[in-house]
Amino acid sequence: MKITGGCRCGRIAYEATIDPNAVGICHCTDCQSLSGSAYRVTVPARADAFVIRGEPKIYVKTAASGTKRAQAFCPDCGAAIYAAAVSNPPSYSLRVGSISQRVELGAPKRQIWCQSALPWSMDLRAVEQYPRQS
Ligand SMILES: [Zn+2]
Ligand SMILES: [Zn+2]
Repeated sequence: MKITGGCRCGRIAYEATIDPNAVGICHCTDCQSLSGSAYRVTVPARADAFVIRGEPKIYVKTAASGTKRAQAFCPDCGAAIYAAAVSNPPSYSLRVGSISQRVELGAPKRQIWCQSALPWSMDLRAVEQYPRQS
């Protein structure tokens, strides 16, 4: 599936090809910290079909395992765009919130790092719901 995406302010835009059924959730503490949220939702995009316009700022994160990952975000609005290997990435892990067609993507198929999930984030059905602000 061809998709387009970018940051909130418009400085960064991209095109990519993804599998809409490859959406996943990561509950690791790095994703919580870097996203500023409870968990991160991503979908992989092959590098050969990923075209980006505008230059994201890169933060290189070193995991406890020693693995380094480039975290790309807009230098103006701060929106997260992708994570990828530092050099010659075979794929880009796109942040689903940056994808214009995110509503059309399938629901996530798997959740990883559930051992560090915020317990409430595993089931939101009992949380009061409103169509807009309450
Ligand atoms: Zn921006
Ligand atoms: Zn993670």
